[in-house]
Amino acid sequence: MIPIVKPFIPPSDDLMPALESVLYSGYIAQGDRVDFFEEKLRLYFNTNRLVTVNSGTSALHLALCLIGVSKGDEVISTPLTAEPTNTAILQTGAKIVWADVEPTTGLISVESVERLISDRTKAIMVVHYAGMVADMNSFSVLKQKYGIPIIEDCAHAFGAEYRNEKLGFYSDYAVYSFQAIKHITTIDGGLLIVNTEDDYERARKLRWFGLDKSTPRLENNIRESGYKYHMNNVNAEIGIIQMKYLERNVQRYIDNGNYFDKTLESVDGITTIDYSKETLPSYWLFTCLVENRESFIDHMNANGIACSTLHLRNDRHSVFGKKADLPGLDDFYSKFIHWGCGHWIDTADRQRIVEVVKSGW
Ligand SMILES: *Cc1c(COP(=O)(O)O)cnc(C)c1O
Repeated sequence: MIPIVKPFIPPSDDLMPALESVLYSGYIAQGDRVDFFEEKLRLYFNTNRLVTVNSGTSALHLALCLIGVSKGDEVISTPLTAEPTNTAILQTGAKIVWADVEPTTGLISVESVERLISDRTKAIMVVHYAGMVADMNSFSVLKQKYGIPIIEDCAHAFGAEYRNEKLGFYSDYAVYSFQAIKHITTIDGGLLIVNTEDDYERARKLRWFGLDKSTPRLENNIRESGYKYHMNNVNAEIGIIQMKYLERNVQRYIDNGNYFDKTLESVDGITTIDYSKETLPSYWLFTCLVENRESFIDHMNANGIACSTLHLRNDRHSVFGKKADLPGLDDFYSKFIHWGCGHWIDTADRQRIVEVVKSGW
């Protein structure tokens, strides 16, 4: 079976010596390897204001804490995402208000978000679902108009771009995940990109109990209680080695995605996504709309190709409160499908996938 997702682990002759050296170095906690990984990420994202953490979920929670989201507040979010986007909001005590999505892409709808803004709205969560890129210019206009900060959940969208920039420059906070099956994995890990010096300094402390690592421990004074969210040298070392393979890997997701879009464009029963020209999607999953989805899934599975909707719409979880009326999501959710698009899919695999789709279901 060709899987939908698969971790990339660098070749052992490259990874293992580096890993062994850090494991026996006498320093495995957050130290110089974390600094070095962050240095590499700064070059990649072209910003100094980023902090690594131990998961994408921690990064989301940190962003919400930096904004000051708490009980009694509302955060507008999308149900079409992995659950951590929304459990992180509940962690703060705030209430989630569900926005609708675009029926053609599944991306959170700007119009729907604007209609839901109230006096209690403290933040807006924008998810770049499956590696597609949301309409960030319109969201930044909303942010200016109402003064409400935006958090971008880029966990599916490493390497994606909006107007030729990596994600995070049209908002206040951008969150990435280095979990097992993301474009780049440190086994577990995450990244928070912020836009102000104040947020950067606070984030650095909040990820480590509130302590300032650049001041000697005995001279520290915790003013704001933080969390144990920092990355350690072992995970960082894996990230450092991963960076050597990153450009090639991300490009394979994009090339495979473009190939599927081009070859399936005019196939009966398939509607490919009409990606905005202002975006470069990074195709964490291949996404399209299909007719007779159940038969399509059976047909693909019978031919050794895993395909699925992967995520349960989050408003189906009772913990998030009552279900909302979301016609755009109902529409998208009844037709969309994902299959694998990443580094494990070579030219022969992708040709076979297209032949299987074209053979009909
Ligand atoms: C993976 C993921 C997260 C959480 O990342 P972790 O590193 O697993 O905590 C958040 N949002 C989305 C959309 C994700 O896919």
